[in-house]
Amino acid sequence: MRTVNAYAAMSATEPLAPTTIERRDVGPHDVLIEIRYAGICHSDIHTAREEWGPTTFPLVTGHEIAGIVAEVGSEVTRHAVGDRVGVGCMVGSCGECRYCLEGEEQYCSKGFVGTYGAQDRDGTITQGGYSTSVVVTEDFVVRIPDALDLDVAAPLLCAGITTYSPLRHWNAGPGRKVAVVGLGGLGHMAVKIAHALGAEVSVLSQSLKKQEDGLRLGADRYYATSDPATFEGLAGAFDLIINTVSAPVDLDAYLGLLAVDGVLVNVGAPAEPLSLNAFSLVVGRRSYAGSLIGGIRQTQEMLDFCAEHGIGAEVEVIAADRVNEAWERVLASDVRYRFVIDTATLG
Ligand code: NAP
Ligand code: ZN
Repeated sequence: MRTVNAYAAMSATEPLAPTTIERRDVGPHDVLIEIRYAGICHSDIHTAREEWGPTTFPLVTGHEIAGIVAEVGSEVTRHAVGDRVGVGCMVGSCGECRYCLEGEEQYCSKGFVGTYGAQDRDGTITQGGYSTSVVVTEDFVVRIPDALDLDVAAPLLCAGITTYSPLRHWNAGPGRKVAVVGLGGLGHMAVKIAHALGAEVSVLSQSLKKQEDGLRLGADRYYATSDPATFEGLAGAFDLIINTVSAPVDLDAYLGLLAVDGVLVNVGAPAEPLSLNAFSLVVGRRSYAGSLIGGIRQTQEMLDFCAEHGIGAEVEVIAADRVNEAWERVLASDVRYRFVIDTATLG
């Protein structure tokens, strides 16, 4: 066991505070990663504030981890000391069910082991990336290509794969009109990736405040959802809409923007239930779907794709003692476009 510095939530209502946690010894199939950067995902906040259900405290969040391999177990073959690597939202799965065998570990029949706040195979509760190092089974560690700096690569481990996966699944590409709802951490990655895939990309944001950024990131068009004219003018306009909003939205209004056979995919995961009118689907043979992160194989594919296209996240690197302020800014939609903790500041 080793004791490492971390920032943790002590309860659902208190600010995060510096602490220490234990990391297990490096087993035969484990990799010890010295964490350099950890992205701040809105899911960290949903989880720590118990919006998705009860949480075990203290909780160290963070599932956008980029770092360097510091030690490997005796049986490890995929990674070596000194490698640049990443860990996303999963650190384990059964490895035997049909979904694991298909490389879709996020849909593991027995439930994947989350990077934080989940019961690990040894019964302990996993702790995430707002810390200086982590021990992870080699199969859940991916390679970060040299072309990507570690700070801009960290958010790819969740925001990147969560948007890449549905964009690929629903064939975003040339000739396809894609809209991204919400220009936050996930949204800005969706814009960059959909643009690189060759799709025609529109952003649907609450206001036009970030329009210049959106167009620079690769959007062809930018609309304010606060303007009712947006919904009238864009009726039937899109083949695919990726909704990244962390709060409930008016699904019927967005479904109305889909062409026949269009798909609205929710990656945003608000705590509150969402409702829709069946006619919004029936009229136009539309679909409403969800998508959860992406498998390990596809995460590697996404990192290689991003390296090839020069895509990193737009990050604001912060010291660990600014994490509470960063969370408040995420909640206020004041993020451009991912906060990343420099873990060297954890001491
Ligand atoms: P984020 O950075 O806070 O971005 C969310 C964006 O949604 C905001 O920047 C804002 O964009 C818009 N928004 C926020 N509140 C809104 C409201 N009340 N009405 C309309 N728009 C609003 O969050 P994130 O880290 O990208 O995560 C987004 C959601 O995805 C969260 O619920 C998170 O838990 C979930 N998530 C899901 C997965 C998955 O596997 N499915 C993975 C990661 C995260 P504008 O200012 O442009 O309007
Ligand atoms: Zn996340």
